[in-house]
Amino acid sequence: MSFFRGKVVIITGSSNGIGRGTAELFAKTGAKLTITGRNKDTLEETYDLCLRAGMYPGGILKLIGDVTDEAFVEQLVEKTVEKFGQLDVLVNNAGASVFDLTGKKGLEVPLANYDRIMDINVRSVVKISQLAVPHLEKTKGAIVNVSSIAGYPFSAQEAYYSMSKAALDQLTVQMAGQLINKGIRVNSVNPGAIQTNFAVTAGAPAELLQEMYSKVFGEGSEGCKKVIPLGKIGQPDDIGKIILFLADRTQSEIIVGQRIVADGGSLIKNNLLSMEIKMSFFA
Ligand code: NDP
Repeated sequence: MSFFRGKVVIITGSSNGIGRGTAELFAKTGAKLTITGRNKDTLEETYDLCLRAGMYPGGILKLIGDVTDEAFVEQLVEKTVEKFGQLDVLVNNAGASVFDLTGKKGLEVPLANYDRIMDINVRSVVKISQLAVPHLEKTKGAIVNVSSIAGYPFSAQEAYYSMSKAALDQLTVQMAGQLINKGIRVNSVNPGAIQTNFAVTAGAPAELLQEMYSKVFGEGSEGCKKVIPLGKIGQPDDIGKIILFLADRTQSEIIVGQRIVADGGSLIKNNLLSMEIKMSFFA
C-alpha cells in the first residue's frame, strides 16, 4: 500500500508546470490534495488531470490565490485542515522570476523586481511553513521546497532570482535543523532546466519559449548536450518523482536538510568548464 494513502498534501503552484506534474503523481497514491495557484483556468486543468489520474472529487481542495498574500495563505492551511482534518506534506513549489527585458543586468535591474522575486520565492515560503508547522508536528510530516540550481553559479541575467534560490536553500537548512526536533523533515529539490511555462510567467514572449525549447534544448542535439550533459531537458514529473521520494518517510527518512540537485549534469558541466578555464590560465 502507498505510504501516501489517506495523507494530506498541499502543493503550492500546482496550477501549472512542476506543481501540476507533482499533483498528478500524488493523485495516483491515494493522498488527499490541496492544489492552488492564481489562475482559475489552469488550476481547473490540474483538477481534471488529478481526477483522470484516479482521484475522487472529495479528495481535492482547489484554492485560488497569491502566495504573497498572507490572508490567502492563512486560508490555504486553515481550509486544508478544516476539510481533511490534518496535514502531512507541504510542497513549497510556487516560485517565479520577473525578467527585465530592457537589457539591464545584475544590480542594474530595478529593486521592484528584487522585492517581488524575494516575496514569492522566500518570504511566502517562510510564512506558509510557519503556519503549517503546528499541523506537521502532529503527523510527523515533511516539507519539500522546490529550489533551483540557480542559487549556485554566477548569473548575469538573473541575479535576484539566483539570490532568492540561494536564500531558499539556506532556509531549507535552517528549517531542517530546527524542525527535526519536532519530527518534521525538511529537504529541497533543486532542478536544472525543466520544460514548463516558467519563462513566460516571468515575462518572456510565449513564441520565443517554444523556439528556445526546440533550438537550445532539442533532445540529443549538440546545443542541448552543451548545457545538459544528459542530452535532454527535464519534465515536470522528473521533479515530481523526487518530491514524492523526499516526502515519503519509508523511502527517505534518513535524508534531512539536503538539497537534491536534479539537472541532468548541468552543474558538473559548468564546473568542468570553469575548471578547464582555470587550468588553461595556469598552463
Ligand atoms: P510555472 O510558471 O510553470 O509554474 C509556476 C507555478 O507557481 C504556477 O502554478 C503558478 O501559478 C505558481 N505561482 C507563481 N507565482 C505565484 C504567486 N505569486 N502566487 C501563487 N502561485 C504562484 O513554473 P515551474 O513549474 O517551472 O516552477 C515551479 C518551481 O520550480 C518554481 O519555484 C521555480 O523557481 C522552480 N524551478 C523551475 C525550473 C525550470 O526550469 N522550469 C528550474 C529550477 C527551478 P499561477 O500562474 O496560477 O499563479
